[in-house]
Amino acid sequence: MSKSLRLSEKWFNRGLWLVAILFSQFLIGLGQVVMQDLPKVEQQYTAHDFIDPELERSLEQQQTQAEKNYLAARQAVDKAEQQLNGLEAEYASAHGTFSNWLATRQVTEQHGQDKALIERTKQLDKIKARQDKAQTQLDELLRIQEQKYNEQQTVQQNYSAALAEADLKVFEVQRQQELKVFFYRLLLALPLLALALWLFNKKRKTKDWPFVWGFLIFAAYTFFVELVPYLPSYGGYIRYIVGLIVTIFAGRKAIFALNNYLEKQKQAEQLPEQQRREKLSYDMALSHLAKNVCPGCERGVDLKNPDNDFCPHCGIGLFDYCGGCQSRKNAFSKFCHRCGLGAGG
Ligand SMILES: [Zn+2]
Ligand SMILES: [Zn+2]
Repeated sequence: MSKSLRLSEKWFNRGLWLVAILFSQFLIGLGQVVMQDLPKVEQQYTAHDFIDPELERSLEQQQTQAEKNYLAARQAVDKAEQQLNGLEAEYASAHGTFSNWLATRQVTEQHGQDKALIERTKQLDKIKARQDKAQTQLDELLRIQEQKYNEQQTVQQNYSAALAEADLKVFEVQRQQELKVFFYRLLLALPLLALALWLFNKKRKTKDWPFVWGFLIFAAYTFFVELVPYLPSYGGYIRYIVGLIVTIFAGRKAIFALNNYLEKQKQAEQLPEQQRREKLSYDMALSHLAKNVCPGCERGVDLKNPDNDFCPHCGIGLFDYCGGCQSRKNAFSKFCHRCGLGAGG
């Protein structure tokens, strides 16, 4: 990743970053497929796996029987209700006929019909008695229906209680399974992270840097994002502790690099000017000067002032004069911008 001012090289570098990102995306995709297949290793349990089969069969039978009993009681109630309704209609109809007959009798004043009156009243009473009996039967059947309903409820509750107890065991087993899956994932993700750190440490400045960065993005994503949904309750510790280790590792590396840089810079500033100039990269010197920064010591300098031929901080020459035409020119330029003479001439 050398800094360059060449246009094509800049674009090639951007393209290589694209390669790094694409590489990381494909790795992430592949990792996801692998990860998704992991939980399938484990069997999925339900409450029925943790209930005594003998007990469950008995409970099922009880439930079926109780349902049947309740249904039968309800059918009996329906039948009794129909019967009662029929008797009520019969009574109403008989009572109507009797009332009409009574009215006719009063109008015609036929008093010789007392026997008939008694007979008709008796018949009416008989229907009434049957109706009362049917009502009593219906009341009894309703009582039985309620009893059967309560029995059914009790059986249902027992069954539910047994299933709830089994559910607790399922929950326990699932928790253990999740823990196992989490450790599988950790076992995959941790070496990736370690390998990524090693690559970052050793290989990030090689010409294969796009693959190093792609792998780094993939490993960080896998560990810090993908693992999250599978973290058990204490899993946060692992994430934060590993995060801390990585940050300390990266931070110490940055501090070391800074000290190293300052040390090198100090040593470089001790060298004679010509040697210092030779050590600086041409492109870097030009890009520094474009930002009003001294290429030798990287401190700010005022390049617009035509008197500033040397850096006031480190003394390196910033401008010199062409050997051919005496023009004032950038001391790092390889050729004179006016006469084209090589800088050595
Ligand atoms: Zn300087
Ligand atoms: Zn010149």
